[in-house]
Amino acid sequence: MARRKYIVGNWKMNGLLAALGEAAAIFAAAKDHAGVDVALCPPFTLIRPMIAAVPGAAVGGQDCHAAASGAFTGSVAAPMLADIGATLTIVGHSERREGFGESDADVQAKAEAALGAGLDVILCVGEPREVRESGEAVDYVLAQIAGSLPADFDAARLAIAYEPIWAIGTGLVPTVGDVAAMHGAIRAKLAEQAGEGAARTMRILYGGSVNGDNAAELLGAGDVDGALVGGASLTAVKFVPIIAAGAAL
Ligand code: PEP
Repeated sequence: MARRKYIVGNWKMNGLLAALGEAAAIFAAAKDHAGVDVALCPPFTLIRPMIAAVPGAAVGGQDCHAAASGAFTGSVAAPMLADIGATLTIVGHSERREGFGESDADVQAKAEAALGAGLDVILCVGEPREVRESGEAVDYVLAQIAGSLPADFDAARLAIAYEPIWAIGTGLVPTVGDVAAMHGAIRAKLAEQAGEGAARTMRILYGGSVNGDNAAELLGAGDVDGALVGGASLTAVKFVPIIAAGAAL
């Protein structure tokens, strides 16, 4: 069965209650593109209000703790996300791997906790600029997958997001050829690690400066099943063209 395109917005630490109108406009427009799955990952504070404003919408976290509860001031556990109606979470975003020192093992534990709580997972990987320039990007990313993919999981509930760090929020994007080559290498690695069936089922998203102008080309690249979008997901006027580009493929 063909994999459905998956377009996910990561609002990062942006958005007050006043931004809920944008979410409502995004999910309303997404209904016109029924062949595409659309989700938004706002800050924790907006998850519940967004679900209340748009019942049935796929709304998720940007991170979760690996433990179900405990003395972890400021953290949010996967069962807490599920409890308020979230249906997914991002784990392993480079802004957490780099900014908060998260290791592959940490990311794996978070992914397992999220799946265990009933959440779908978007597991992020991606290389820094110096690794891309040294020609080691594929090896680097495959090692991240080796270290952070859960041991056992339902392939329909776990997507990989390939996000070259140097492309996030910079306006720089890899060539379509480089994106296709990386996604192909990731799928081959998934087949080796999780089996052919899982690799055929799993969606691999591209993330890094996706916008309405480049979405069609990036989403059309080989083995690209969707996009994880930061800046351009904050408003309907910027995000809906990306959803439409996914639907047109
Ligand atoms: C991201 O935050 O995951 C991201 C890809 O950001 P941007 O689209 O702004 O580059």
